[in-house]
Amino acid sequence: MLIELREVSKVFSTPRGPVVALDAVEAALPEGKVIGLLGPNGSGKTTLLRILVGLLQPDSGEVRYAGQPLSREVCRRFGYMPEERGLYPKTAAKDQLRYLLQLRGFSRSDAEKEIRYWAERLHMPWLDRPARALSKGMQQKVQLTLALAGSPELLLLDEPFSGLDPIVAAEMEALLRERVAQGATLLLSTHRLEQVDTLCDYVLLIHKGRLYLAGETATLRRRYWQRLYEIETTTPVSALPWPVGVQVTPQSDYRALLQLPESLSASALLQELLPHTEVRFFAEKLPTIREIFLQIVDIA
Ligand code: ADP
Repeated sequence: MLIELREVSKVFSTPRGPVVALDAVEAALPEGKVIGLLGPNGSGKTTLLRILVGLLQPDSGEVRYAGQPLSREVCRRFGYMPEERGLYPKTAAKDQLRYLLQLRGFSRSDAEKEIRYWAERLHMPWLDRPARALSKGMQQKVQLTLALAGSPELLLLDEPFSGLDPIVAAEMEALLRERVAQGATLLLSTHRLEQVDTLCDYVLLIHKGRLYLAGETATLRRRYWQRLYEIETTTPVSALPWPVGVQVTPQSDYRALLQLPESLSASALLQELLPHTEVRFFAEKLPTIREIFLQIVDIA
């Protein structure tokens, strides 16, 4: 496993008393995957990312990357896009990029090379403009450039798609997938659980600082499957003789969601139905990650 979190805890002292941001989080994250760090606002996602990039120290516990403890040298191999997208409003985006890349250790000419490459790749012909003249999506691309420059082996992106229009979001997603296909590991946080079923290979679900669930998206969806099926028939579903115990939730005249009792297999159900209708479509309906989260955590 690429990243190991061992009982990582972090408590912030605030005027209202201590806030537990992370409570003994224990996880092992695979290499070369898109990993989603999921949870509602305030669940500890940003705190965990900040610990992983070395901006915060955990109060207790340990983080290891590729078998080594986190150090400044190790963190240099990471690209980070923070949640707060603070660019100086009056300075040209390009000048800020060059300055920040040089701070990160790029020579001036390497920084210029990176800027030229990403300006083309991310369609940013407007880098001469001051940040205040850029839309939120444009500013986000500038921040993403900082994370991607130098092809880091681990990308940590905090809510990378928030505030993006669907076209820019799709463009960004394709680019990130390409980096992962080339061997990078991507850890991204999001509170939009509906996005992650297709985006993430692996998910970590956290709530109020506690890790509730971690695993491969496909495995979790199968593990939490509740014998639900989707069917489309040529006879209206309301006119079919459903076997005892089948819960039928019509979606339209000819489509329904079915929950089968343990005692009835899918093939036995189809055998009973086929004398009465053709079956146009029949498939297992796996739960979404959002549904699984709602099932195991009370996000009230
Ligand atoms: P998320 O990224 O999931 O929205 P955060 O990691 O930002 O969650 O925050 C987790 C909890 O820790 C929240 O209750 C938040 O208010 C608190 N918190 C985060 N950073 C600080 C800080 N610097 N000082 C005090 N409390 C903080």
